[in-house]
Amino acid sequence: MTGLWPHQYEAADLAFRGRNVIISTGTASGKSLAYLTPAVAACLDGGTVLYLTPTKALAADQLRGLRELRVTQLRAACFDGDTPFEERTWVRQHANYVLTNPDMLHRSILPRHAQWSTFFRRLRMIVIDECHGYRGVFGSHVAQILRRLRRVCARYNSSPTFLLASATASEPGAFAMRLTGLEMHEVTVDASPKGATTIALWEPPLTELRGEGGAPVRRTATAEAADLLADLVLADVRTLAFVRSRRGAETVALTARAKLADVAFSLSSHFPRTPPSSATATPEQTADHHASASEQRAGIADHLDTRSSARADEPSAEAGNQPSAQISNEPGEKGGDERTAADELGKESRERGAVPDSSLSWALPDMPDQPDWSELPNKIAAYRAGYLAEDRRLLEKALRAGTLMGLASTNALELGVDVSGLDAVLIAGWPGTRASLWQQAGRAGRDGRDALAVLIARDDPLDTYLVHHPQALFGRPVEAIVLDPDNPYVLGPHLCAAAAEIPLTDDDLPVFGDTTAAVLDDLVAKGMLRRRPAGWFWTRRERATDLADIRGGGGAPIQVVESSTGRLLGSVDEPSAHTTVHTGAVYLHQGETFLVELLDLEAGVALVSSATPDFTTFARDITDISILATQRSQPLGPGTLHFGEVEVTRQVVSYLKRRLQSGEMLGDEPLDLPPRTLRTRAVWWTLPASAVAPLAEAGIDLGGAAHAAEHASIGLLPLFATCDRWDIGGVSTELHADTGLLTVFVYDGHEGGAGFAERGHARAVDWLTATREAIVSCECERGCPSCIQSPKCGNGNEPLDKRGAVQLLDTLLPPQ
Ligand SMILES: [Zn+2]
Ligand SMILES: [Zn+2]
Repeated sequence: MTGLWPHQYEAADLAFRGRNVIISTGTASGKSLAYLTPAVAACLDGGTVLYLTPTKALAADQLRGLRELRVTQLRAACFDGDTPFEERTWVRQHANYVLTNPDMLHRSILPRHAQWSTFFRRLRMIVIDECHGYRGVFGSHVAQILRRLRRVCARYNSSPTFLLASATASEPGAFAMRLTGLEMHEVTVDASPKGATTIALWEPPLTELRGEGGAPVRRTATAEAADLLADLVLADVRTLAFVRSRRGAETVALTARAKLADVAFSLSSHFPRTPPSSATATPEQTADHHASASEQRAGIADHLDTRSSARADEPSAEAGNQPSAQISNEPGEKGGDERTAADELGKESRERGAVPDSSLSWALPDMPDQPDWSELPNKIAAYRAGYLAEDRRLLEKALRAGTLMGLASTNALELGVDVSGLDAVLIAGWPGTRASLWQQAGRAGRDGRDALAVLIARDDPLDTYLVHHPQALFGRPVEAIVLDPDNPYVLGPHLCAAAAEIPLTDDDLPVFGDTTAAVLDDLVAKGMLRRRPAGWFWTRRERATDLADIRGGGGAPIQVVESSTGRLLGSVDEPSAHTTVHTGAVYLHQGETFLVELLDLEAGVALVSSATPDFTTFARDITDISILATQRSQPLGPGTLHFGEVEVTRQVVSYLKRRLQSGEMLGDEPLDLPPRTLRTRAVWWTLPASAVAPLAEAGIDLGGAAHAAEHASIGLLPLFATCDRWDIGGVSTELHADTGLLTVFVYDGHEGGAGFAERGHARAVDWLTATREAIVSCECERGCPSCIQSPKCGNGNEPLDKRGAVQLLDTLLPPQ
């Protein structure tokens, strides 16, 4: 086994010996080699391998890699929604390396296991790639699908070895055990070589624009990313910008190209003659800009962690270790007046015929002798999921060759497409977890050289907190991956599916966890399953697998249909439909943008059309909450912290429109949707009247203070639980009917809970301390979207009391 890094060898060796193992390492550390070696060996030895990934694209890439091995005995094939029916029989009967996803396993392979009997009988190894994607409710579903898979394997007398591959995560062994239900060895050391990566944390400036309640609006992360991308490309730095949506990625690429076109225009008209006009940069001015750039760099250095990372797989951040790229575009260099929406689109500078000064200062030092300036804009492109493999390869090739210098992308790249040879990575908005941040940042650094990664903050409390508190990013372990397979709303449908596959017996109970017996009783009582002496049976006509919507949160899903073509784009679970595909919503599907023409709840359909609106939408709801059962309570300062079951009644009442590029508020449109109730879990804290009376006497609006603290705490919870702020909700009140006290609730937005509120309860002091810090760090005076305003507030962000929220949290939190 020469040619393997020690971590690859260790994982492969464990798998060879039949031990279940999870390998959890950084990007580009060659995880695939660790599982390929034993997996291919299993095939050569007459066995079969099942390979699972979250996406079809990654399976297709893996398949290509396997075919390039040119091993004749290896009969690898994808089995997913795109596999033609005539090929499916061949795959079932002859393939010995099957690549699929959890959805296909759930809907097709497991229910028809008899057709796969030859495959299952010889199954030696199950590879679960990119398994860090299996978190929250989706992860809980996948955990139950894997338990069903284990049961089907046992039926065919096979006991395959599980080999899991994950991005860096805390406690990967514990996560893998929760996911599979099996004991798991963990391999976490990363021995692959890496240069140092400088991480810059970038906060866009406040603009003159005004949002809700007159709050200042920050320049958007995408506008800043476009500026930086243009500047870096001009400085000959190969750069990849990660942007959330395909539309956003295209906007960044277009804006950056427009900036390069300005530069090209200006250079071709002014160079090599001495620029005469004061509107363009003179050499002296350029020198001045360099001086100011170094001052700005000193400012950036303040944001950088100066500590070398102790972990080999995390980029180290050293202030003195900047690569050749010089960031001169620190907020503040351009006058505040210039930072209008028009400027963001590059219009203003085009009209002036001038080059953004900071860009010119980059370009002048290395000007070639006979440059073809008109080609300059073509050095930047957008890259997205959905491109054909050939197109993607062309882009990758151009990037490696240097004919392409800048790429704006959705995180499609993160899912296994190979782009190497980059100098810098721009990340527009917190990607959700430290693990994803390091994974994206890890794209930079070719051949072990030094690299730059810039995290650009969005106007969100968590982003604000992070750019002001680098210690929350550096020198910390990455997040643990949270999932809750015992959630009865997840377990129930999978027990039905399992019973439909092979009737359940008492022996199966331990496979599905401690709560199985109680959930089975409930299913029998509801008439879903029948209890007979031999076990539990599915006797209904419909397909049991339809009960579980594994990528949603349960309930009958709403079909999202393109109205002009009738094409089914996907489905959204009913609870999320109210917030994501209401009439008038901007709906993103695989990075593509659609506008919802009509949401018809009775027909279960949302009709959408392809569109390029220049705004985004946020659904706003009003919420009531009642406590069903308190499971845990403990004192917190003068107050009390609780965790338990709640019933939430939510009604989406309107949606907010904000301009895409500037973030400016465009209006609030009413909606007519019915209320929904949700039984879920929540964390909540209360403060007694004696503790809050002094605050009220000091003139603080207690309702506004609690409301502001609630918003900010929802924004910060994703730092402690791997969730999105859209996975959770909150309610705050000066006096709650169930507690009789000032109470702030944060609840899981999924039926039965998803483990997020529980995590908030476990980390309450750190979480609420960070919440307080986030509010204090924001430079706005009375609250803005970067601290206490919430885009989904059903009360139109009223009332909010920023200073009151800080004092309320000071009262609650134990002195540090
Ligand atoms: Zn603010
Ligand atoms: Zn609110």
